[in-house]
Amino acid sequence: MEHVDTIVIGAGIAGLTAARLLVGAGRRVVALEARDRVGGRVHTDRSHGRVTDLGASWIHGVEDSRVADAATASGMPLVEFTVGGYQPDGRPIAYFGADGHRLDPGATARFVADVRTVDAALGPVVAGSAPEATYRDVTEVALAAQGWPAERTARVREYLEHRSEEQYGVRIEDLAAHGLDDDVIAGDEVVFPDGYDRLATSLAEGLDVRLSHVVSRVTWSPHGVTVPGFAADQVVVTVPVGVLQSDDFVIEPPLPDRQRAALGRLRMNAFEKVVLRFPHRFWDADVHAVRQLGPDGAWWHSWYDLTRLDGVPTLLTFAAGPVARAIRGWTPDRVAASVTAQLRRLYGADVPDPTDVIVTAWQDDPFARGSYAYMTPGSTTRDHDDLAEPVGGVLHLAGEATWTDDPATVTAALHSGHRAACAVLGRHVPIAAAWS
Ligand SMILES: Cc1cc2nc3c(=O)[nH]c(=O)nc-3n(C[C@H](O)[C@H](O)[C@H](O)COP(=O)(O)OP(=O)(O)OC[C@H]3O[C@@H](n4cnc5c(N)ncnc54)[C@H](O)[C@@H]3O)c2cc1C
Repeated sequence: MEHVDTIVIGAGIAGLTAARLLVGAGRRVVALEARDRVGGRVHTDRSHGRVTDLGASWIHGVEDSRVADAATASGMPLVEFTVGGYQPDGRPIAYFGADGHRLDPGATARFVADVRTVDAALGPVVAGSAPEATYRDVTEVALAAQGWPAERTARVREYLEHRSEEQYGVRIEDLAAHGLDDDVIAGDEVVFPDGYDRLATSLAEGLDVRLSHVVSRVTWSPHGVTVPGFAADQVVVTVPVGVLQSDDFVIEPPLPDRQRAALGRLRMNAFEKVVLRFPHRFWDADVHAVRQLGPDGAWWHSWYDLTRLDGVPTLLTFAAGPVARAIRGWTPDRVAASVTAQLRRLYGADVPDPTDVIVTAWQDDPFARGSYAYMTPGSTTRDHDDLAEPVGGVLHLAGEATWTDDPATVTAALHSGHRAACAVLGRHVPIAAAWS
């Protein structure tokens, strides 16, 4: 049995941040990581000399962002890519109508104005919603209040459905009314041409991370914690919600009622990336994204032009919510054929087959069990922070799902790791100590 001051379970951004701050404060720390790499849901594929972020891509707003600070301190280049947070505008987007033709600037402006109008009406409706209300319930109230004709209402309803799916990987009926409360973007969004994983590898530098080390049991008492092979005064557990909820990860004695109840109201989503590289560009120049409105866009409706990252004509789209479940088990070629068929409706029969296709499978990954957690109806935004309440003074949960302000993000993971480190130490340490 090895003895350390603190065991950290999981070497994603939350675990690495916590471990780094604790080591910086003089603690003996071991981080136990199930995979053969660090980073968790921040993972970059570098095969064939190409850089593809399979997990997180974006900082959704660099203004006052500690992730941007950490990335800059690590020397990571950033490329501006706003509208990654499913905004209706802000950067050029080529909208295609239900008839497959591109909307002219006037029609685009009218559609965007309608989205903005409903969004403005939505805030008070969400604030006054019943505890069990769904995002569908509140959006229907906000839509009905406009008194618009059916077709006009349908286009905005569709937008709200797609936003729920693309932001949280869940059907609008399954998301809590408050499920998108955190959806606030301050400043430009950016992506990482050299890969987001650089953030993880630089946080991991010099730490004692034991890779390929699957933890299945944590036993705690007010006197300390053990996991098979290790004993410590305290433990920081950063495994995703889906792992925490599974029988493959046992906490003994079980979490107190408050944490268990909060955990039961969160659920891992279904959200996969589809990255298509083409022999040449065929889509509109100078746009950040292409979007299809109308019934034809029920599956594939939004494509992000990643060409600016490395010059290779590349589109990123998402299989989100029901679509992600439906394509489970499909080969990448079958997914590519389905997406390309839709692109041909917009850009014609000459659209070439992609030369390279990547489809992620986070929902089948035993150490993720989805891409990130969403709030089911009945949950409150506080559930996130409640999860992080220290247990017995020795067990600390951290990770994206434990941070109320901006859950489901790298930002949340980073801040939750910082909070856990402060709780372990019993004093505040500056978050910037993790990268300075
Ligand atoms: C497809 C996708 C797109 C995303 N897009 C964005 C984005 O654009 N911007 C953004 O900010 N966020 C995005 N996210 C979310 C972001 O990646 C996560 O919120 C964040 O990386 C979570 O960090 P974490 O440390 O909480 O968890 P993780 O990164 O999951 O770290 C937990 C670690 O625990 C390990 N683990 C699991 N089980 C065990 C076990 N039994 N024993 C030991 N170790 C275990 C895991 O392997 C993992 O390394 C995206 C995620 C995905 C998957």
